[in-house]
Amino acid sequence: MKICRILKDSEPRYSYADDDGLRLFPKYWLPGLELPLTNRESVAAGEVEAFLPPVNPSKIVCVGRNYAAHALELNNPLPTEPLLFLKAPTALISEGDAIKLPSQSRQVEHEGELGIVIGRRCKAIPVDEDPFDYVLGYVCVNDVTARDLQKRDVQFTRAKSFDTFCPVSRFIETDAAGSDLALKVTVNGETRQEGRTRDMIFDIPFLIRYISNHMTLLPGDLIATGTPSGVSRLNPGDVCTVEIDSIGTLSNPVRD
Ligand code: MG
Repeated sequence: MKICRILKDSEPRYSYADDDGLRLFPKYWLPGLELPLTNRESVAAGEVEAFLPPVNPSKIVCVGRNYAAHALELNNPLPTEPLLFLKAPTALISEGDAIKLPSQSRQVEHEGELGIVIGRRCKAIPVDEDPFDYVLGYVCVNDVTARDLQKRDVQFTRAKSFDTFCPVSRFIETDAAGSDLALKVTVNGETRQEGRTRDMIFDIPFLIRYISNHMTLLPGDLIATGTPSGVSRLNPGDVCTVEIDSIGTLSNPVRD
């Protein structure tokens, strides 16, 4: 299933796509509740006032240096345990929205990543439970980064959390398996990053379990799982596209 969030009658509503277009979930529905099977009203294209980011998370947990080639390209050692940091949810934007380059940085870069959307409250997952059972689905994420500020600051907060620095694809794909997907980032059609999610140093179940041992993950929370090598600078007028097999495509223009 492909789940999205739209603005209809000035209200955010979760919906899903089928062959005939979009259908609404009941107003009460949020990630973490059972997917409703009936009363799915269809939505005419003209009734969609906007597509919103499909997640409205309490937090965005990001994993740094989770692909060896990317750690090496930034002259960082390989991590021996996941390097976690948070990105402000106010950085979220949708497919097609502009990434705005802040005046405080001269080096803003793309980081295409597989995003995990959490489907169940999750704290210290018991050893006999499968972390995949806590996944609602996957999205494409661009962990946009002010690289100069990241290098200058001890904490990543500022470099990662400017408004518009977290584009997310339109749909949460609930049917795909995330463990071995091809990921590609192009800028103006030119390939910059290519990788496969199987090359993560810490894989999806390890990350979910590890993060849940440090903080409670809530339904709708987003985990950005790290980026392969090939990060590069974004300039005004560029269009940056993240494509992940079976998950979707995420394109955003870049503005001053
Ligand atoms: Mg990243």
